[in-house]
Amino acid sequence: TSEFQGKHVTVAGLGVSGVPAAKVLHARGAVVTVVNDGDDARAREQAAELEALGITVRLGDGATLPEGTELIVTAPGWKPDKPLFLAAGKAGVPVWGDVELAWRLRGPDAAPWLAVTGTNGKTTTVQMLASILAAAGLRTAAVGNIGVSLLDAVLGEERYDVLAVELSSYQLHWAPSLRAHSAAVLNLAPDHLDWHGSMEAYAADKGRVYEGNQVACVYNVADGRTEDLVREADVEEGCRAVGFTLGTPGLSQLGVVDGILVDRAFVPDRHKNAQELAEVSDVNPPAPHNIANALAAAALARAFGVPAAAVREGLRNFRPDAHRIAHVADIDGVAYVDDSKATNTHAAEASLAAYEPIVWIAGGLAKGATFDELVATSAKRLRGAVLIGADRALIREALARHAPEVPVVDLDRTDTGAMLQAVTEAKRLAQPGDTVLLAPACASMDMFTNYNQRGDAFAAAVRELRA
Ligand code: ADP
Repeated sequence: TSEFQGKHVTVAGLGVSGVPAAKVLHARGAVVTVVNDGDDARAREQAAELEALGITVRLGDGATLPEGTELIVTAPGWKPDKPLFLAAGKAGVPVWGDVELAWRLRGPDAAPWLAVTGTNGKTTTVQMLASILAAAGLRTAAVGNIGVSLLDAVLGEERYDVLAVELSSYQLHWAPSLRAHSAAVLNLAPDHLDWHGSMEAYAADKGRVYEGNQVACVYNVADGRTEDLVREADVEEGCRAVGFTLGTPGLSQLGVVDGILVDRAFVPDRHKNAQELAEVSDVNPPAPHNIANALAAAALARAFGVPAAAVREGLRNFRPDAHRIAHVADIDGVAYVDDSKATNTHAAEASLAAYEPIVWIAGGLAKGATFDELVATSAKRLRGAVLIGADRALIREALARHAPEVPVVDLDRTDTGAMLQAVTEAKRLAQPGDTVLLAPACASMDMFTNYNQRGDAFAAAVRELRA
């Protein structure tokens, strides 16, 4: 019988993680109660489905800890300071997230996990990693926060040799016993601080990804905080700290020498040897931040024993997801690039660093961010800026402070049609050889459903210009 037989488990939150978790626990004999804050039509539909199986569902009451609860399994987004968790803490009831549940339920000969977290670049890196592992002939999948449930991957029919796992800071917060084969923290910039409470707490949750690593903890040489997290982690004996850098690699690092990605960590005698992995031009797109992503993916693959030729082939096969520095068109010698996924300043800074001169289209919902650092570091690359969206004044003011000479077009509109006008204005500012770059540094929900729709609107506007 399973360890859940007869156990009173409370599942916090319906939705993509809660519904499958409730079903799995119920099937293993647990007495499951689902609590959910909302009680809208969608929630009622999901509740009916679970109730038909004999699972109790309490809609509109996510705060009260059900009597007799022995374990809570929560949706990752639920904030740690919710009354439910405070009550659980007092009662000594453990709380697991969806990742913890998947980790515990994986079979005895389950595939090891290569884990990736960080503020930006997670999805790209995990997809590159999966591509490299597949090129090495391994049975693998990109799973986790990327939108593919870990529970499905762990309990499904499909057999894997190794999993490329994207983990968010929320998921890591609720995954106390996860032990990856190897893991990478790509970078750390302020994000989701309202949820975690502070930068320290956010960093600590990201750092959990290194706990108990078996082979390698991969860190970013350019971001000292990631290396600090490795130092603070409790890892298995023999597990190594491995850095990645866009410069010449030191010992136990991967880096770049004369346009070649090289490995000085996973080679027979690393004091003397370096292994060439791939060329910078094998990376799609070969922008600096994306080469960093490729090095991190390569480090994890090499930690797993993948040969150099497969790293190269995997990187060559990789195609980025839509709206991540996607080249839309060239018109009159001007390139139009869609990085609608740059929804925070750290991401926008990375894409602005990849081009020069740039006509920058930015703005949207700032989510409490400030733009001074972004504008100050990018000012010299800017031919001009076109601002859209609700919080555009914040960017306009930062431009006035740090780049007063850069021409700015401030579009005083937040309707969807504003994108065509923005692209038209950008075209007017651009000269041959320039790049018109949509890197909003903001969320999209003031004008669009999501960043996909925003990027599609940009591409449609560019096509209209060309016609
Ligand atoms: P995540 O899954 O962490 O959100 P993505 O791979 O989807 O990351 O990339 C999101 C955006 O972040 C990209 O469109 C790009 O603007 C930016 N980005 C990608 N990689 C990095 C990186 N290594 N450092 C900084 N910004 C990055």
